[in-house]
Amino acid sequence: MLAKMMDRPLLISSLIAHAARWHGDQEIVTRTIDGPNHRYTWAEAEIRAKKFAQALQRLGVQQGERIGTLAWNTNRHVEAYYGIAGMGAVTHTINPRLFPEQLEYVVNHAEDTYLVIDTTFVDLVANLLPHAPKVKGVIVFAARDAMPDISRLRNPICYEDLIDGETGAMDWPVFDDNSAAALCYTSGTTGNPKGALYGHKSTIIHTLCEIAPDCMNLSARDAVMPVVPMFHVNAWGIPYATAAVGTKLVLPGRHLDGKSIYDLLTSEKVTFTAAVPTIWMMLLAHMNEIGGRLDDLDRVVIGGSACPRAMMEAFQNDYGVQVLHAWGMTEMSPLGTLNTPKAKHLDLPDVAKVDLQQSAGRPLFGVDMKIVDEEGRTLPNDGVATGELKVTGPWIIADYFNLDQKAAAHAEDGWFSTGDVCAIDPDGYIWITDRLKDVIKSGGEWISSIDLENIAVGHPKVAEAAAIGMPHPKWDERPLLVVVKTAKGQDLTKDEVLAYLDGKIAKWWTPDDVVFVEDLPHTATGKLSKLQLRERFKDYVLPTAS
Ligand code: AMP
Repeated sequence: MLAKMMDRPLLISSLIAHAARWHGDQEIVTRTIDGPNHRYTWAEAEIRAKKFAQALQRLGVQQGERIGTLAWNTNRHVEAYYGIAGMGAVTHTINPRLFPEQLEYVVNHAEDTYLVIDTTFVDLVANLLPHAPKVKGVIVFAARDAMPDISRLRNPICYEDLIDGETGAMDWPVFDDNSAAALCYTSGTTGNPKGALYGHKSTIIHTLCEIAPDCMNLSARDAVMPVVPMFHVNAWGIPYATAAVGTKLVLPGRHLDGKSIYDLLTSEKVTFTAAVPTIWMMLLAHMNEIGGRLDDLDRVVIGGSACPRAMMEAFQNDYGVQVLHAWGMTEMSPLGTLNTPKAKHLDLPDVAKVDLQQSAGRPLFGVDMKIVDEEGRTLPNDGVATGELKVTGPWIIADYFNLDQKAAAHAEDGWFSTGDVCAIDPDGYIWITDRLKDVIKSGGEWISSIDLENIAVGHPKVAEAAAIGMPHPKWDERPLLVVVKTAKGQDLTKDEVLAYLDGKIAKWWTPDDVVFVEDLPHTATGKLSKLQLRERFKDYVLPTAS
């Protein structure tokens, strides 16, 4: 028997329609590329998104066609998100930090027909176009009088001119909510980037779970600033979640340094923000320097890489901001787990509460997970056994976009292999040890590179640290710790680092050597690139190995 309920498709356009209708006066504030902050409302944003949708229709863009964006977190990018998906096309957010050959690959693989870009990316796109024959035109996010030199662009179109020619008087089209809405490629540390193609329905379900109390706990009383870029898994879904509840939305544009982030957080009274640890390292350093305060900020989501304990303690103890440690992947829209306590944890001593926060959190409703051994056998959720994490759920990719063959990650029907190694405790909290390919294998046992790094950065003279396994004749691999010193900690020595680790890790985890470098390599999404680091150290021999 079928239910007697309305069969309304779950479309992304309904989010901005809701925000415009019921939170129409709520502000969206953007730090512009060079000028003062831009301010308008969700109601104005929806009209402009509709105008952009009409303009795309006029350009002949069809349902399912991919439109690439190369843009920072701005109101125009929000308009493009809704305009493109709302008219039935697919928003392909492109990470401008990809290497040129990867950029070329993703634009061609996605078969983008138009690129919508910020003025900062004109040169990047001009260099790309000769290798991207399917791109018909480039829409530049600028007013006519602020257009940069576009002579090298194919069929350049001024965004403000384009939407000026439209009325905005339209109803959002209604179509199957299993249609594709957005496309994001993984940063591809090995091989070519792979595309995750999100749908309307999957995005709405993800949004509903994201706003829930044990997740981001968003409400119409929040002022939300996604620092995580809109080209990195849709800024973790925040442009959708904020519309769903009608929060104030604050967008930092291209200004991601500690001072700019601090100024915007305080001047716009931001209550909720989210980004990877690298951003927060810059913010904390800036606040330390100027004696800053965060009186309005209530919660900060930290994910994308493990959040070091020292960072958590700084936010919570020094600034009174609750840290929400989260884990997810491009392939998961991206949320998988988020760390909030259960009732039984509320009376724990403070130190034990921070101990629990070292976990990347527990599964949100909608995501199921298990860990398996090398033969694919399910391991117990006892907090001790570690294995590869597999996930399943309605906002997790069933397949990559247009891949010739099924990826190894989908070898088991109905499950996606994450490539992350973790333990799951009986309460569902996951304890990530490493990426499967980064774990250090010493004498048949595993050493967590993430744990070594996180403990090392707790040393006040360590700015950043990376641990990699180096070949060893007896143990197979032994850890090498590569350290970047802070500006004020230039006198740091190997012995000081090892003494600091002593007692915080098992003796046999102690790195066989500590090497100091000026900088560490990062991927396009700001994560440590172990691949490049191993390449840099390929001729290095541990003192214990000779
Ligand atoms: P991406 O698809 O670029 O978002 O990368 C996803 C990967 O980032 C995951 O598979 C993890 O390896 C890593 N990651 C994300 N969040 C965390 C976290 N909280 N702790 C450790 N690793 C994380």
